[in-house]
Amino acid sequence: MSDCANKAVIVGAGPAGLTAAYELSKKGQRVVVLESDPRYVGGISRTVEYHGYRFDIGGHRFFSKSREVEDLWTEILGADMLQRPRSSKIFYRGKFYSYPLKPFEALSQLGVMESALCVLSFLKARLRPLRNPKSFEDWVVNEFGERLFRIFFKTYTEKVWGMSCKDISADWAAQRIKGLTLGGAIRNALAPKRKSKDRAHVVKTLIDTFRYPRFGPGMMWEACAEKIRAMGGEVLLGRSVVACRFDAASSAWTVTARTADVATVEFCGEHLISSMPMRQLAAQIEPRLPESALRSANSLRYRDFLTIGLILREHNRFKDNWIYIHDPNVKVGRVQNYKSWSPEMVPDADYCCYGLEYFCFEGDGLWTMQDADLIALGAKELEQVGLGSAADVVDGCVIRQPKAYPVYDDDYQQHVGVVRRAMASHCRNLHLVGRNGMHKYNNQDHAMMTALLAARNILAGENKYDVWSVNEDGEYHESGHAGEQTAAGAERTTATDKNCDDCSSLRAGISG
Ligand SMILES: Cc1cc2nc3c(=O)[nH]c(=O)nc-3n(C[C@H](O)[C@H](O)[C@H](O)COP(=O)(O)OP(=O)(O)OC[C@H]3O[C@@H](n4cnc5c(N)ncnc54)[C@H](O)[C@@H]3O)c2cc1C
Repeated sequence: MSDCANKAVIVGAGPAGLTAAYELSKKGQRVVVLESDPRYVGGISRTVEYHGYRFDIGGHRFFSKSREVEDLWTEILGADMLQRPRSSKIFYRGKFYSYPLKPFEALSQLGVMESALCVLSFLKARLRPLRNPKSFEDWVVNEFGERLFRIFFKTYTEKVWGMSCKDISADWAAQRIKGLTLGGAIRNALAPKRKSKDRAHVVKTLIDTFRYPRFGPGMMWEACAEKIRAMGGEVLLGRSVVACRFDAASSAWTVTARTADVATVEFCGEHLISSMPMRQLAAQIEPRLPESALRSANSLRYRDFLTIGLILREHNRFKDNWIYIHDPNVKVGRVQNYKSWSPEMVPDADYCCYGLEYFCFEGDGLWTMQDADLIALGAKELEQVGLGSAADVVDGCVIRQPKAYPVYDDDYQQHVGVVRRAMASHCRNLHLVGRNGMHKYNNQDHAMMTALLAARNILAGENKYDVWSVNEDGEYHESGHAGEQTAAGAERTTATDKNCDDCSSLRAGISG
């Protein structure tokens, strides 16, 4: 038994870290949360403020099949959680297509000739499918045909991942686009909408509206951090964890964090809950993990992301929440209109603020560009796609997000397995949670569920819940009931679902 005052030291004040801290604090346990960001909590789900204008890191819809998670959001923010209308489109070669795609509208937008070619290429793919599809491209072409692949899948997917669709594995496409077929989409478009209350609820909840905090997702996590502090927990910003040492004799973790003035501070805890990237944690653990585990951890890869935030004079050019830019002539991948997410993201109704999203690698040409040049690029591309005029841009900022996406390459599962097993056998009382913490491509609700279960394992004094099963067979895309799952059903078999808003391209630009 350790003599540490803290039940747990928690690395990261994103949704996972804060949820774990909140759960433990509610049960009277002492916790300390260490966050490297000097200003914001919320991690990738933070909201950045610039001159009173608010910018998400991607728009963050709040939706979960877990009733517990939905209830937790309500418990934390209450009436500050809005129900917002949803509208999104795809921009391709000068035209806008509804998203999720409406097959008949799409075909009419494409024109008679292109539509006929799409249908023919779809029929060809069905009649003569590629045997043993190996790549994302092969898989999608088999399902939808070559032409639809080029229009609705290829460009955006390649923008997001920075690699050719030929180099992305077919398994991965099958996992991401599971359940989605052109036939199904057409059937949905043709089928009369059922009038049952239940169905209406589903459609309204998942397709037409979503929940969103008045001041953006960061508001949720700031409120959560405040509640943790009010219960006696510590949430410390500007503390970058650089070493995590486990002492078997005292069964305690000592975590070293660096502050902005390069001082180091140590924190002691009976348990360590980590939401920092798995690759980073593996390198920090002492005693050192076996070489094989370190090699595997080093093989885990990430895709990075930046948002060019633009403030413009309002001319109501579009009302959608976001627009996917499939056009290959510009680098921008998606444009967010934050006023449509919540009017309170904008302090002056005569202006609006957009987020132009670019996918990149830390250190590449885009990442290292001067902010002023990026803002100029954003204004130029916004005009190029017809969503605004560069002359209306009055100000801007750049928000860089390293490790926005854990990369699912051919080997990642094997590497994650090696690291997990090594960590489990090497040291006790270590709990990996969240998106990069577990190298899982998940949304807030799944990150939160892993954290809730980790906290409950700590409270139970045993690994009662299987944190790793969260998210494993969850494919619900745009279907399913909000809040229908409870963590009670999670004991050792938890399977919250994939609700990956930020992997839309992977869903082929056809579902949300
Ligand atoms: C473009 C985009 C759009 C998205 N849209 C949605 C959406 O619509 N709905 C939704 O629910 N989810 C969405 N997500 C996913 C959501 O952002 C994540 O699932 C969620 O933030 C993961 O929470 P987390 O706590 O696991 O990790 P993070 O949010 O990554 O938080 C981890 C925290 O740990 C901190 N940290 C890391 N290393 C250290 C260290 N060494 N020391 C101290 N602190 C450290 C980080 O600074 C960070 O604050 C989106 C993601 C992206 C990229």
